[in-house]
Amino acid sequence: KLYNLVQDLKGSIRVYCRVRPAFGTVKKPSCVDCIDEGNMAVITPGKGGKDTRKNFTFNRVFGPSATQALVYVDTQPLIRSVLDGYNVCIFAYGQTGSGKTFTMTGPDVFTTETMGVNYRSLNDLFDIQQQRKNMIAYEVCVQMLEIYNEMVRDLLSSDGATKKYPFYGYSCLFDIHLSFICCLVFVILTTDHIRNTTGCLTVHVSGKDLTSGSTVRGCMHLVDLAGSERADKTEATGDRLKEATFINKSLSALGDVIASLAQKSTHVPYRNSKLTLLLQDALGGQAKTLMFIHVSPDPDTVGETISTLKFAERVS
Ligand code: ADP
Ligand code: MG
Repeated sequence: KLYNLVQDLKGSIRVYCRVRPAFGTVKKPSCVDCIDEGNMAVITPGKGGKDTRKNFTFNRVFGPSATQALVYVDTQPLIRSVLDGYNVCIFAYGQTGSGKTFTMTGPDVFTTETMGVNYRSLNDLFDIQQQRKNMIAYEVCVQMLEIYNEMVRDLLSSDGATKKYPFYGYSCLFDIHLSFICCLVFVILTTDHIRNTTGCLTVHVSGKDLTSGSTVRGCMHLVDLAGSERADKTEATGDRLKEATFINKSLSALGDVIASLAQKSTHVPYRNSKLTLLLQDALGGQAKTLMFIHVSPDPDTVGETISTLKFAERVS
């Protein structure tokens, strides 16, 4: 019974790890071995002999050959629960180049096979909405925000105020008859965020039960975080150093919030960053959180990989 209780408490925060494929013609040995690609998997950054090898356990590990569809299978139930009135946050964490945007959006030129979590989630939201349309009338609004140096910018607004926009329909890729806002979201999703910003697509859903008249509200935040490389290691100066310092503060504030939620601590430090303040309603309580941790197999960046895995260890 106690075991079940512990499982339940842990249930609201999941951490999945994804290992990027190696690039280039010269194949260096990977610094990350996926021992097991099943449920509770283990990763070993294996450079420098046995002493530095360390195992990290996640709810799921996706190796370099995992497809976008496979990665999405374990995400899909969260999307469904947004329509049932839950708040959901999905984060992509990792150093620049580790595959965050690939997971959330997809590669630069993509197809229905390679499209990422953002598109798949929106597709599912609209599919399920269609299936339920005789029972529940849903309204969907979207918001696209960007955080840079602790400043929040609304990517869909011209006057600086943050707004929610109604989202009338969604049609992915090849079947294009979209409303203006859909097009805009589509274009912005497709435009890769510059490296030092955090991009957040938020979808607000409210559904009215046509028989009882009761309403449910849920929201989903899909967050492509700024690169996690450490400021002290990036030899940055001036504006770059300032950016790196802001990013480090914001990511560690996020880590603090998720870690204190995972430990069921009574004080959750939401106020320490713009990101955690913005997502406050969707972190903790009944909300469901999923963190995709991205690592590169490149042995030259094994230091970053280890620090990424340590971050993951703290929040899970
Ligand atoms: P990040 O957003 O973390 O900086 P990207 O998602 O832009 O990293 O990934 C860097 C490069 O690696 C891109 O060219 C991307 O298409 C590619 N890439 C990342 N992950 C994968 C993967 N799982 N399979 C194939 N290519 C990938
Ligand atoms: Mg990116």
